[in-house]
Amino acid sequence: MRAVSRGDGGGMPRGRLIDGKAIAAALRQRVGEAAASLRERHGVTPGLAVVLVGDDPASQVYVRGKARACAAAGIASFEHRLPADCGMADLLELAARLNADDRVDGILVQLPLPRGLDPRRIIASLDPAKDVDGFHPLNIGRLWSGEAGLVPCTPQGVMLLLRGVRRDWSGADAVVLGRSQIVGRPMAALLLAADCTVTIVHSKTVDAAAICRRADILVAAIGRPSIVAPDWVKPGATVIDVGINRIAATEGGARLVGDVDFAAVRPVAGAITPVPGGVGPMTIACLLRNTLLAACRRRALPDPEALRA
Ligand code: NAP
Repeated sequence: MRAVSRGDGGGMPRGRLIDGKAIAAALRQRVGEAAASLRERHGVTPGLAVVLVGDDPASQVYVRGKARACAAAGIASFEHRLPADCGMADLLELAARLNADDRVDGILVQLPLPRGLDPRRIIASLDPAKDVDGFHPLNIGRLWSGEAGLVPCTPQGVMLLLRGVRRDWSGADAVVLGRSQIVGRPMAALLLAADCTVTIVHSKTVDAAAICRRADILVAAIGRPSIVAPDWVKPGATVIDVGINRIAATEGGARLVGDVDFAAVRPVAGAITPVPGGVGPMTIACLLRNTLLAACRRRALPDPEALRA
């Protein structure tokens, strides 16, 4: 969908707004229906275990949000808290218990972990079938080799938003800004699997703006407030802003902005996500989706029709 719609003010062409909140709400509804059907037909209540180490306030907010979302979708949630000074052995022992607990279909270790705890080691110790974050090396390998596995939630959410703009992106030029393990790299793998021609831009890239300018799909995930300016964007491109940056607001306090200068870029873009209300709500909806998929796949049941991508 490259068409631009006309805005209501000043007659300036504007990119279509991609409403992540509405798309995520619809996905959560479908997850809830699939969970109800799993319970009725097979007597299974899907379960998500969330492991929170330490008392990072932002992590606590995320964990509470996840528990609420689970409850609304009919997914049981189990919260496990460990003190910041726990050792790797405590964490590995908890992971082993959760791996063996049949009520638990998904295990999520809230990141970042306090200093001294190795996130890679703990993630590698999870049962890949319960790795609803999609960070286990086996799931990463499956993603890059095009096999079915559990796919990281944020890039999965981006793909669902892109599919709402256009079903088939085959042959499109896609540029991913950022190469983190949780967003940039899996994002690139998913775009490749969707037959896009993919370029990854990172902090050592020379002339990022020129590379971004040729993109039909531009996904920004670098954590730099409003860095993507209109001259980084090809007219009509679909721009997905994953960034969440807290900046000082002119009226005092703080406000959230993305990596894209939304007001300036929207008139150039064909479609664009806002921050907040774009990718953010999709991440948690995809976590619920992954938990449902894990619950089915662990029991050799087919993926629920309503949750097929
Ligand atoms: P990260 O681990 O800090 O990775 C940032 C990436 O951006 C790195 O690959 C880095 O390159 C690259 N980068 C930094 N500055 C750059 C620049 N000026 N030009 C080009 N590339 C640059 O971040 P992340 O975890 O992927 O998160 C990225 C953003 O997405 C953050 O704002 C985060 O809050 C947000 N986020 C949102 C969601 C959501 O649900 N909406 C989920 C996860 C993350 P190098 O590799 O070369 O250092």
